[in-house]
Amino acid sequence: MATECSAKTGICDPDQLTIDWLLERRSDLSEEQIRNAFVFPDEDAVYHGGVHTIDLDKIRPMVAHPGDPDKGIPSDPTNGAYIDDLGSVPIDIAYAGSCTAGKDDDFSYYAKVAKAAKDAGLKVADGVECYIQFGSGSVKQLSERMGWTALFEEVGIQLIDPGCGACIGAGPGISNDSDQVTISAINRNFQGRSGPGQLYLASPLTVMASAFMGRITAWHPEIFSKV
Ligand code: SF4
Repeated sequence: MATECSAKTGICDPDQLTIDWLLERRSDLSEEQIRNAFVFPDEDAVYHGGVHTIDLDKIRPMVAHPGDPDKGIPSDPTNGAYIDDLGSVPIDIAYAGSCTAGKDDDFSYYAKVAKAAKDAGLKVADGVECYIQFGSGSVKQLSERMGWTALFEEVGIQLIDPGCGACIGAGPGISNDSDQVTISAINRNFQGRSGPGQLYLASPLTVMASAFMGRITAWHPEIFSKV
């Protein structure tokens, strides 16, 4: 999301997990070759915006308000509205996946929520369309191997092949009128980009929990036990 926060680009320090992931997929490369291709900051690099340390344990589930990925309250440093400050926001569409939130781990989160909903006897809420778009062909294969695809279909989720889809206003999952509300894990919500409706951005867990609750809802393990 570096670009959406006005940066020209963003670079993540690679770690051992990155190396292991690449080694599984690039049998033509050695670990040393992979390490040598990584980019790290110079030891004397200067950070004009300062150095910010984020404690992930302290992050509260939040959304970006419709209209701009950079929009939200409080706007800095969390850059989004906390869900428990939002009040009740009913939804019409829950759109998960895409290039941004369609990775292996994202799909494990969708499956976790869908399994909890199924165990509670729930399906996608009445009046809500729920989509998950695979981030790639290999994610689609993983989902099938893990039994997630069958689980998603059983609870009423519609699956979409990899592509840009609703993020570019194409295919299922776009809004048709300005009154519709979407909660989505794609990374852009500029007004009109995915139809004329109001599109909130949120995490994969929030999008999936909201699909079953019918309103914007943060995930926690007991969420469906009171429905
Ligand atoms: S247009 Fe959207 S879905 Fe397509 S690559 Fe860009 S961010 Fe991903």
